[in-house]
Amino acid sequence: MSVRKVLQAGTPSLREKSEPITKINKQVIKILDDMIDTMDSYDAVGLAAPQIGVNKRIIVVNPGTGLIELINPVITKCEGEYLDREGCLSVEKYQGDVVRYQSIFVEGLTRTGKRIRFTAKDLLARAIQHEIDHLEGILFVDRALALFEIQQNGEEV
Ligand code: ZN
Repeated sequence: MSVRKVLQAGTPSLREKSEPITKINKQVIKILDDMIDTMDSYDAVGLAAPQIGVNKRIIVVNPGTGLIELINPVITKCEGEYLDREGCLSVEKYQGDVVRYQSIFVEGLTRTGKRIRFTAKDLLARAIQHEIDHLEGILFVDRALALFEIQQNGEEV
């Protein structure tokens, strides 16, 4: 397992649509482990595989309520909308106010190939929507109603 370099906005591959995983093999497990190490090392809420240069449909999220790994994640229902501040490891300079669904029903595969389905709300729902956007080549800055420049120490300017 290792912490990987996080690609920054402007890198063309961040704008590509990611490919589904057709077989969960050792390589996929290694990507998942590296994603978790990388997310944890930055104390981030989530990470998508394209951010470490892998254009595959894999995301990890942990908004403080426990780690969730999802392979080929799909949102099948969504409800309500709310605006909140968002950031991204691939967009170091800005945070932004983004409208997201408040509640989503999401499906995907675990690393053992088990299909899981669950309802996610609030920050967990926001994180999953943000990470799935990465799989479509979408960054939060595309959706943000307002952007705020942040300094190196993470404070708003
Ligand atoms: Zn992001």
